[in-house]
Amino acid sequence: MAREPGMATRLLAAHVDDGAGRCRVCSIGGQAGRAAAWPCLIRLYADQAQATVRGVDRIAPTAAHLLGG
Ligand SMILES: [Zn+2]
Repeated sequence: MAREPGMATRLLAAHVDDGAGRCRVCSIGGQAGRAAAWPCLIRLYADQAQATVRGVDRIAPTAAHLLGG
């Protein structure tokens, strides 16, 4: 994904908090009726991909938390 910064940007723009702590995209389409918590995994991956593209030597705090950082 890091090779496609445009893709990460689109994902970041789409996978946003719906205002209730859920991902606006991942909560749609019925994951067996389960609403996806936000930030979702796709959002986190996109965050990392974009940080890599920018050469930023850190990842989003939320991602660091999930990765045990
Ligand atoms: Zn999502």
